[in-house]
Amino acid sequence: MENVTFCQSCGMPLDKEAVKGTEKNGLKTDEYCKYCYENGSFKNPKMNLEDMKNTVQTQMKKLNMPHGVIQKAINILPALSRWKNK
Ligand SMILES: [Zn+2]
Repeated sequence: MENVTFCQSCGMPLDKEAVKGTEKNGLKTDEYCKYCYENGSFKNPKMNLEDMKNTVQTQMKKLNMPHGVIQKAINILPALSRWKNK
């Protein structure tokens, strides 16, 4: 099985090069997705963990994800490196 990493901000799987964020030098990062991180900085630097929980929940509801799956996704957020030490 392939080793899939997860965005350390929103928890989405970085299973394709296309969803990975970029550093200032244009290289892809294995840490964050392009929705959270681009050109070496966060798109929403003022976002906190609660904001991210709400965003993830809203996005997943739009995609008609089952409640249990949404809950799981939200539960892993505090363990991601962007939020861990806050
Ligand atoms: Zn992300």
